[in-house]
Amino acid sequence: MSNPIQAIRGMNDQLPDDLTCWQYLEQVASVVFKQFGYYEIRIPVVEKTELFARSIGQVTDIVEKEMYTFQDRNGDQLSLRPEATAGVVRAMLQHGLLHNAIQRVWYAGPMFRHERPQKGRYRQFHQIGVEAYGMAEADLDVEVISMTSQLWRKLGLTGVKLEINTLGSPESRVEYRDALVKYFQANRDSLDADSLRRLESNPLRILDSKDKAVIELNRVAPDIFDYLDSASREHFERVRLLLERLGIGYIRNPNLVRGLDYYSHTVFEWKTDKLGAQNAICGGGRYDGLVEKLGGRPTPAAGFAIGVERLIELLRIEQRCQNRERTDIYIVQTSESALEMGLSLAMKIRDVGISVISNIGSTGFKSQLKKADRSGAQLALIIGENELQTNSVTVKQLDSGKQFSVSTEKLLTEISSFLEQAE
Ligand code: ATP
Ligand code: MG
Repeated sequence: MSNPIQAIRGMNDQLPDDLTCWQYLEQVASVVFKQFGYYEIRIPVVEKTELFARSIGQVTDIVEKEMYTFQDRNGDQLSLRPEATAGVVRAMLQHGLLHNAIQRVWYAGPMFRHERPQKGRYRQFHQIGVEAYGMAEADLDVEVISMTSQLWRKLGLTGVKLEINTLGSPESRVEYRDALVKYFQANRDSLDADSLRRLESNPLRILDSKDKAVIELNRVAPDIFDYLDSASREHFERVRLLLERLGIGYIRNPNLVRGLDYYSHTVFEWKTDKLGAQNAICGGGRYDGLVEKLGGRPTPAAGFAIGVERLIELLRIEQRCQNRERTDIYIVQTSESALEMGLSLAMKIRDVGISVISNIGSTGFKSQLKKADRSGAQLALIIGENELQTNSVTVKQLDSGKQFSVSTEKLLTEISSFLEQAE
């Protein structure tokens, strides 16, 4: 036998036991999003590389070093999506959805980035996110933030903190950029190689550095707030005011710039101190320039993306995941004719919404009961010769071992009421 093939590093299987929590999260999120008037959109996992280069920006970590890019058999340059915002904008433009009623959408699915795998950082990971188009007012920034806040509340999460900042308008950023470059140039000696490179290409990203010396330098770097034009300042003040009115606590982090190029005005991140180094579970903000960059008419936009693996880990730590639902019933049948009766009963029982595992294979009675126990079902229905003759079924409670006999006519009502009580 040759060695079994393993999954790719940084790409994880989600096993049935893991998925209970995932499905719970997805379900709660979809309900919350619907309550805010957002509709689901699904887009391909692969897009033209150019889409990401144009939207995310050439000089970002993602496009520079993290994308899975390849040539397909036609010679087209394609990439696995590293995030979904670009693809959603592409789809909205392609289908002419930006200027009619559907302006609020959500998505969920796998994203791909070739990063160094570690806890909370994977090469295939999952995001759940929303995007909203056509609304320039600060109310929208606050709407998307309040959606996340509502979601944490519904999930019962407590250990998360909101950080916000503004990147202002592109115009106000020009002057700020100059001030930053001047400041960092005067302190070149403390910059690491990455930051030196960014000093030329994308100096704002230095604020995002994880290098110790640079972090120190960033503490006293020029603050964008002092460079905002009055409209940008008002926008940010309104966001803060509305958050306060809604009772959503936050801190302003002047170094919060987010990794992607296309943001403007509000940016935010939800962080936790329970996950170690990978502490951001959600990031988002406003990106008014993106639609135009991708060939559409200027259209303001805002959104966020939640890192599902990190959020799931946090839910586990805070013991907010639900237990796996047990299968209701396991049917044990000891002869060919019992099997026929069992199969047809199973169909009827499933019709009323109760889950049933039918025993497969003609093993003996004892071994079937063992399988019933191991299946985790609540009840075993036993059909043998006696039961066939009396047109009844023996119901065994697998936890207590108690059993009783029920006529087939009464079976559905009896097991329904038993399962209801057990809930
Ligand atoms: P980080 O600074 O942790 O690299 P990011 O700024 O690159 O995050 P975004 O592109 O804003 O992340 O994605 C939004 C969220 O997706 C993050 O807050 C995080 O929870 C999650 N995320 C991003 N990259 C990964 C990854 N490689 N593995 C798992 N989750 C990730
Ligand atoms: Mg990253």
